[in-house]
Amino acid sequence: MSVTAPPAPFTADPGATLSPDSYLDVAYEDKLALWEEVKADDRFPDYLYGCYECGICVAACPSARFYDFSPRKIAQAAAREDVELIFEQMNDDVWNCSQCFSCNRCPRQNSPGGLITLLREVAVRNGLGTAKEALEGYGRVVYKIMTTGTQISPDMLQPDAFPDWGPDVEKTSDNLELWRRALPPETLHTTEMSWQVSDETLIELYLIWLHSDVMDMIAEADEGLHMIILDVMEETLEDAGYEV
Ligand code: SF4
Ligand code: SF4
Repeated sequence: MSVTAPPAPFTADPGATLSPDSYLDVAYEDKLALWEEVKADDRFPDYLYGCYECGICVAACPSARFYDFSPRKIAQAAAREDVELIFEQMNDDVWNCSQCFSCNRCPRQNSPGGLITLLREVAVRNGLGTAKEALEGYGRVVYKIMTTGTQISPDMLQPDAFPDWGPDVEKTSDNLELWRRALPPETLHTTEMSWQVSDETLIELYLIWLHSDVMDMIAEADEGLHMIILDVMEETLEDAGYEV
């Protein structure tokens, strides 16, 4: 395979230069292939139109307040097609985004959050070690969402599951039943689910996940988790008369 020489890093903005610990051991053509995969996504043209470097996205970004993270740098690197920097961001920065899309107020109509979605998906699909590491703590969340079709349930509020939620989680988890009964809305009052998803909706979700590359991405991130989720899906679908 021929190797394309990397473009010289653009250094006008000190924040956009490579950090000393960037991934220099990874071949340039491998990084380029990942970037090409990002650009080939149908959503890409709607997420990047160029960048004024105005920083409005940074001002709107909650993650930028708490981490060394900037949606502007993501958009800039993508607009300049700085393959080396994009690869570094794909491994490190993108996992600091909370996917709130406040950055969509960009005057250039960019969606840095959307770009980050694509970078994350490519990282997971290609089994990057940093992606696996970043997703390690989310197995329970992924399992819950993909088997019940609903989001985090109260019984997942356990101190060992989310250490970064702080010491107060323990107070809540110790009295979970009580809290759940005390808090509105007056629905369910269970601790195992947030709300009930109908069988019809759940089957539809399973079919979408099975027929798209979602399950392949789960397999790349965590093979064991993939097998468990697949078992649950297959059983439900077979009971409903689908051949899996
Ligand atoms: S992505 Fe948009 S909001 Fe952010 S710096 Fe570029 S032009 Fe400004
Ligand atoms: S989607 Fe990500 S980059 Fe955009 S504002 Fe939210 S946290 Fe920041």
